[in-house]
Amino acid sequence: MKTFILHLLLISVLSFSAVGQTDSTSSYIVLKNATIIDAISDFGKKGTLLIQEDKIAAIDYSHSLTLPKGAITYDLEGKFIIPGLIDAHVHITHGTLKEAQAHLQTAVQQGITGVRDMGGDGRMLTLLQKNMKIGEDVGPDVFFSTIIAGPEFFEQDPRPQEVAKGAKAGEVSWLRAITSESDLRQVVAEAKGMGATAIKVYLNVDKDLFKQVSDEAKRQGLKVWSHGVVPPTKAMDITNGGADVMSHAGHLVQYEFVKGDIRGRHSFESQEELQAYRKKLNDIAWDENTKEVKQLFTAMNKNNSILDATLFIYTFGLDDAGEGEEIDSTKYLVGMKTVKTAYQYSVKIGAGSDHMISEDGTINLHKELELLTTVGLTNIDALRAATIVNAEGLGEEKNIGTIEKGKLANLVVLNNNPLEDISHTKNIKYVFKRGKQIE
Ligand SMILES: [Zn+2]
Repeated sequence: MKTFILHLLLISVLSFSAVGQTDSTSSYIVLKNATIIDAISDFGKKGTLLIQEDKIAAIDYSHSLTLPKGAITYDLEGKFIIPGLIDAHVHITHGTLKEAQAHLQTAVQQGITGVRDMGGDGRMLTLLQKNMKIGEDVGPDVFFSTIIAGPEFFEQDPRPQEVAKGAKAGEVSWLRAITSESDLRQVVAEAKGMGATAIKVYLNVDKDLFKQVSDEAKRQGLKVWSHGVVPPTKAMDITNGGADVMSHAGHLVQYEFVKGDIRGRHSFESQEELQAYRKKLNDIAWDENTKEVKQLFTAMNKNNSILDATLFIYTFGLDDAGEGEEIDSTKYLVGMKTVKTAYQYSVKIGAGSDHMISEDGTINLHKELELLTTVGLTNIDALRAATIVNAEGLGEEKNIGTIEKGKLANLVVLNNNPLEDISHTKNIKYVFKRGKQIE
């Protein structure tokens, strides 16, 4: 039956091109003899992929596919094909436009076909989003959010003004201060109009306001991304308030033990006072059987909130500490434990680096995948974290994230099997984005 349908499909596409309506020689690509790891099955299977223009037109595991004449054919004997990788936590606009373009080009060459920007200059992101989609720039497809926070954040933190140059952070559509008086319909409509996929709730938003802005975002068809903890609001209220993705494993759990509101970094008189508060939280002992932990991860699982772990960012400074230098590895260790426990409760884990590219050009999502496997994710689940789970977080699971007929041909061809060793995601032979081989 399957074969019959494939034949029908090919007959129809071939006759279509035969009458001269498409350029039949350049619109087909055949990837044959590779092991296809589609991210649906737990295993890879040897087969042939047919790409027509920007989409996967057929997948054949039974050698029964009649290949279109003139198709560009790659014999990939001994190679492995995975879905294009998505980095679910990047900030790409902290430099110039030229730098962002160069960084994104490196990223796609290293297998990243989609990025989720978690806060930057909306004007630049809108431009990059368009250019990546139409092929004017070479890089991953760009998805981004508008940052939503209480006015205190924009008044007290210098970072947002960096990406609002020429205007005022908190008053522009990509960096929006809200209070209970705000016209949330308008705030969300402006984010949507700019091309944002989601709102990102960052800081100083209370539980009721979180729920209101989240409901309004969903009503207008946007996703709700959030930090896992948004002082004064705790993770439990974030997931129950409708968060689709919650970022940063490092401090997710501990705040659940605080009675009442939790304190954000701007509510302290001094750095010492803040450090003491955090130390007290980190000293709380918990494991997977602790009531608060159980409740939180059960709720995240039920609400389908994805945990954007960002383990890589916690490794900063751990490797290059000088001798005798004291490095605070607390967040890293707590983060590892948190992801491990969340995974035990079947919370969906997404892969985000929070630092897409290092100065030497290394793309850090590959390292994030290694870290996820060290806390217990199977290799296939680590791959899913960077593909289908991240696609769900973007609301793009129908278009990307697995290797399936009809989805965009975003594919990475690897020289070695990532199911044997996850670090093989770095060992790349070819990358295809929207059906085009990346040079
Ligand atoms: Zn970030």
